[in-house]
Amino acid sequence: MSSRVSAAQAVSVRLTGNGEGVQKRLSGPLRRPQSMQYFVILTKECNLFCAYCGGGSDTPPKEIQYSLEELQSFLSKDPDPILEFYGGEPLLRMAVMKKIVNGTRGRFALQTNGTFLDRVEPRLLRKLQTILVSIDGTESVTDRERGKGVYQRAMRNVAAVRETGYRGDVVARMTVVQGSDIFESVTHLLGAGLFDHVHWQLSFSMFWRSDVTEPGLQEWLSRYNAGVSSLVAWWVDEMERTGVVPGIVPFIGITRSLLSGTKAGLRCGSGDDFYAIMPDGRISACPVSVDFDFSVVGSLRTHTPESLPKVKVGEPCTSCDIFGICGGRCLFVNQSQGLLRDGAYAEICGTVKHLVSELQRALPRVRALVDGGRIRGDDFLYPEFNNGCEIIP
Ligand code: SF4
Ligand code: SF4
Repeated sequence: MSSRVSAAQAVSVRLTGNGEGVQKRLSGPLRRPQSMQYFVILTKECNLFCAYCGGGSDTPPKEIQYSLEELQSFLSKDPDPILEFYGGEPLLRMAVMKKIVNGTRGRFALQTNGTFLDRVEPRLLRKLQTILVSIDGTESVTDRERGKGVYQRAMRNVAAVRETGYRGDVVARMTVVQGSDIFESVTHLLGAGLFDHVHWQLSFSMFWRSDVTEPGLQEWLSRYNAGVSSLVAWWVDEMERTGVVPGIVPFIGITRSLLSGTKAGLRCGSGDDFYAIMPDGRISACPVSVDFDFSVVGSLRTHTPESLPKVKVGEPCTSCDIFGICGGRCLFVNQSQGLLRDGAYAEICGTVKHLVSELQRALPRVRALVDGGRIRGDDFLYPEFNNGCEIIP
C-alpha cells in the first residue's frame, strides 16, 4: 500500500527529455529505512453492510485477545513502527484505539467508514498522520453500495475533522464496482475540497468465481479504461493550468516510478514490510486475506517484526513486462487465482496495463512541467510512508 521505490532518503530521478539525459536530485523524504506497517484489526464487527463486503468478518474471534503489553513487546523490537487501525470498523473500538495510541511508540493512521469520525476527540485525531475514509464517489454511488445516508454522514464528519484544524492527510478511499464512472467519482471527491488525496481499487467481487455474474462486465471495463484515459488527461491539464499536482494516488505513485526509472516491489507491501495483526494475535501478510493459509505467517507471541516470513507474488506477475512498474498489484489475488473466474486475471491486468500506458503517454508533459519548474518533482514523493494506499487499483 505504498510506493516502494527504495529506502533511501533521496532519489535520483533521470529526466530524459529530448533524448538528453538529465539527472535531477529529488530531495524530500521517502519511506524511512526499515519502516514496517502493521494493520491492527481492532474488531471484525462493522456497523455497515456494504454490498461488496457484507458487514465485517464472521470468523472468530471478533475482538482483541492479546494484551496491550504483548502488542507493545512485539512493537518494541521495531525501530519505527507504523500502526494503521482497521476493522470491521475500528472506531467501534475507539477506547482500545486510544489506549494503543497513548501507550505505544510509533506513527498512526486510521482506515474508517467515516460514520463515527465526529466522535474522535481532537487530541486523538492529531496523533493520526493519515485518515483514510471509505467512500465510493458521488452520493448515489456511495449510498448504493454502502447504505442510505452513508455519504452525507461521512462527508459531514470529514468536514467536522477539518474544522478541528486537523492538518494530517485525509484520503478518500474508493472501492470501484461495475457500473461506476471513475472520472466522475474521482473528480467529485477531489472537488469536494475535503480530501488531500483520492485512491481506489477495483472491487474483488467483479472477478471472483461466482454463479451470479452481472452482465456487461466487458463493456464496463472498456468504459472504465476510457474513464481512466480522461482522468489522466484532466490530471495533466490541471497541472499545466494550476501548477499543482491533483492528489490522485495511483497516478502519483506510478508517475514517480516512471520519472525515476526505479523498479517497484509489490506496492501495498503485503508480506514484505506490511502485515496485519489479527484480533487473536496471529499475523497475516494482508489484512483482507486473514482467513487464507498462505497469508497467516506468524503471531505477535512467537515472532519478532524481523522474523516474520516474507511472502512474494508469483506468476504470471514475475514474467510480466510491466512487473517493475506494477509490482504484482495484489498478493491476495495472485495467491488465490483458483478463486477467480476464467480470464479474470487478464481482465484485471488489462486495466493496469491501460493505466500504465496512459501515464507513460502523459510522461513527456509531466517531465516538461518538472523541468520547467512549474511543478516540483517532490510532489511525486507520496506517500511518505506506507499509509494503506496500494497505488495500483
Ligand atoms: S499487470 Fe498483472 S500480471 Fe503484470 S505485474 Fe501487474 S498484476 Fe501482475
Ligand atoms: S488485498 Fe491485495 S492489495 Fe490489498 S493489502 Fe492485501 S495483498 Fe495488498
